Amino acid sequence: MKEHSLFQRFMSYILGTNKKIFHEVYIDQDVVDEMLNIARKAYPNEFAALLQGKVEDDVLHISGLLFLPGETSDKGAVMNVFMMPLIDEGVGSVHSHPGYNGNPSGADLHFFSKNGLFHLIIAQPYDENSIFAYNSFGDRIDFKVI
Ligand SMILES: [Zn+2]
Repeated sequence: MKEHSLFQRFMSYILGTNKKIFHEVYIDQDVVDEMLNIARKAYPNEFAALLQGKVEDDVLHISGLLFLPGETSDKGAVMNVFMMPLIDEGVGSVHSHPGYNGNPSGADLHFFSKNGLFHLIIAQPYDENSIFAYNSFGDRIDFKVI
């Protein structure tokens, strides 16, 4: 068990995410395939979903997607997710961007800071190399497809 910094412990206390500190992220291959398929089908609209998973032994393991009604929209699918309180197993979010820019928008960053632990943005061409992962501070983080 790695030692957690005081800062991390403090932040997890503030964010109410105690016991949800992680150092690595694993995403199941079939979840990645599903996300990429949906992103391609939704284009030129965005799609958004919640990520289902849990933290165990310092590893955040993403094992499924949770869909919301009206997940595609030409006005920004993320707004639907914004209005949805994260349910118990929802650890973060994924949404697609029409275009090649995987950077979070201002609205994305605001959402990341308020909800969940881990967020994905999928940009064109919607392949494994165009998936961008962020923590709740909007910092790029790594993930492994398993
Ligand atoms: Zn976005």
